[in-house]
Amino acid sequence: MGTYSRYPLELVRGKGVWLYDSQGRRYLDAVAGIAVCTLGHSDPVLRRALCRQLGRLQHVSNLYRIPEQEALARAICERSAADAVFFCNSGAEANEAAIKLARKHGHTVRGIERPLILTAQASFHGRTLAAVTATGQPKYHQGFEPMVEGFRYFPYNDTAAFEALLADCEATGPRVAAVLLEPLQGEGGVIPGDPAFFRRVRELCDQKQILLIFDEVQIGVGRSGHWWGHDRLGVEPDAFSMAKGLGGGIPIGALAVKAAVDHFQPGDHASTFGGNPFVCRAALTVIAEIERRQLLQHVQAMERLLIDQLSELAARHPGAITEVRGWGLLQGVVLAEDGPTAPELVKAAMAQGLLLVPAGPRVVRIVPPLVIRPRHLRKLIQRLEKALISLS
Ligand SMILES: *Cc1c(COP(=O)(O)O)cnc(C)c1O
Repeated sequence: MGTYSRYPLELVRGKGVWLYDSQGRRYLDAVAGIAVCTLGHSDPVLRRALCRQLGRLQHVSNLYRIPEQEALARAICERSAADAVFFCNSGAEANEAAIKLARKHGHTVRGIERPLILTAQASFHGRTLAAVTATGQPKYHQGFEPMVEGFRYFPYNDTAAFEALLADCEATGPRVAAVLLEPLQGEGGVIPGDPAFFRRVRELCDQKQILLIFDEVQIGVGRSGHWWGHDRLGVEPDAFSMAKGLGGGIPIGALAVKAAVDHFQPGDHASTFGGNPFVCRAALTVIAEIERRQLLQHVQAMERLLIDQLSELAARHPGAITEVRGWGLLQGVVLAEDGPTAPELVKAAMAQGLLLVPAGPRVVRIVPPLVIRPRHLRKLIQRLEKALISLS
């Protein structure tokens, strides 16, 4: 169906940070399937692990114990404050699980009949009906009304506005079940969370037994240079969702929760495909390789290099670039109002053999595989500069 307006580009092969089109042209990939291909393309370790798994077992129902799933849940819990994990197939689905958990928490813990979930403006939580309602961007709602009830929005990183909304919602007694936030807003323009704001939200949620849920779908699993975006904020959630980078290109999503809010009973929630042996093998391999190759430290080093080089580029083109912001290998290049737009720059970069993705009309996102090396970053900057010059 016509859900995408696609570029006239047919990608047929990949190796590391490089992609090849059907004409044999080579592109440096700073999109990575939008923060998905953690280990790059055709990674030999991931390929071997998945081939072995295919030779053993691909899928069994969640009616039975699945050792790969148990191992993956342990791996996630050992690297976070979570105690239990639910597995599904995408980011939207992980957030759907979070929304159902929030409502159950509202009913059972806070005694609310019609619980509310507070989310941020300019957020992005996925395209299923509840996840898109949670998404605080009217353009994604348009044409699909009525939306799911029970969501209220406030400006991201705005402590006073959050306090006012919370006070308003709770004026006549408990109404709020949960607050759902991205530690860094990805699609909404690469906007890092403000630690002071997040600390205050945590404090207010604690006072009222409101769930604090983080959407780690884009920034989680090492992209920030830490396992989780919330590690950078120094604020712990009660539950957090993940997906994109977890399987390195194999579709898997998950919701991780603390024991105190592990409210689901048998029959409450389920997924046919979620957490099957094949996808869990992919995620187990991604996590093991992030550690074996010390990719968290590597991402931190690449972040410093990339920010330095992008800042120099911005200084050379002050009429085009106004700001560089982000965490780790999720960086946003903010474009000037009177210069080229994000879609124009993405197109010009493609002509120079560089793949980029917009995050709104004036921000271009740089989200390469975590295995990108300094020599690739130099090429990225060179090609981005050529694209800028071609537009001026
Ligand atoms: C991409 C994204 C989602 C949706 O994930 P899908 O796998 O496309 O459903 C949700 N939240 C955030 C923060 C995302 O970046």
